[in-house]
Amino acid sequence: MSQANQSTNAHQWGTLTWREIDKLDPDRTIFLLPTGAIEQHGPHLPIDTDIFNSNSLVNAVAKNWKTTDQTIDSKVIALPPIWWGTSPHHKGFSGTISLRIETFHSLLSDIFSSITQHGFYRFLIINGHGGNAGILNASTGELSESLGVSIPTYSYWQSIISTLIELGESEIGGMGHACEMETSLALYLRPELVNLNELRQDLPKSRLALSCIDFRQPGFLGIPLDFRRDSREGVMGDPTLATKEKGQRIFNDALLAANGLVKSLFETESSSLKTSHFSH
Ligand SMILES: [Zn+2]
Repeated sequence: MSQANQSTNAHQWGTLTWREIDKLDPDRTIFLLPTGAIEQHGPHLPIDTDIFNSNSLVNAVAKNWKTTDQTIDSKVIALPPIWWGTSPHHKGFSGTISLRIETFHSLLSDIFSSITQHGFYRFLIINGHGGNAGILNASTGELSESLGVSIPTYSYWQSIISTLIELGESEIGGMGHACEMETSLALYLRPELVNLNELRQDLPKSRLALSCIDFRQPGFLGIPLDFRRDSREGVMGDPTLATKEKGQRIFNDALLAANGLVKSLFETESSSLKTSHFSH
């Protein structure tokens, strides 16, 4: 066995050699892609909050997979993350780096076409930024034709809505952005980066127009936001109610849900993941 295989990072694409990747069994390997954003998260959370959360989740799933699933010989590999997302609604604040929709789609297209060229077809995108959801759906739809693979995608909070409803102490609007949920996660995952002196509640001004921004109860109305216009200092929600304990539950429940998804994707027939355009 090679040194790389013995490394504790053997679940990460970037640490493997081409031979090790070449030997992976396409039927028994799932590749997880973290997506997120580099965007302002209020005066108290770091710019990379969204991609840090999804990348942490992806790496936890991939790293623990051997112990999670002992029934089948399978591998879960964490792909290098796409750091940036589409965040035009946050560009009014310093620090945000936003991709154009076509850039984001081109990145997805180039990444997946490189990987599928070698016969791999089992993927899962775990997203950490709400602003990416629409483009991820549109983009994977196009890739199902151009690459011939159906790439499942979801945003991690969608898998734990019941947990968020149970834990949330804020009114609806309190879990939107740099909020009760994201600040709790940060207090659990890297508390040294939470500026506790800057925690302030900022609930949406207009519930009708902005109700879409709560992880527990997304509104049906789609309306482009401008956080410089729609918030005081980049927050939508109530970070003052965040706790480390909530963050731990949120992360662990998201991890359980992701493990369950990966397991069910392994049980999915290849014919359900390759489209009629698949050529390998
Ligand atoms: Zn966020």
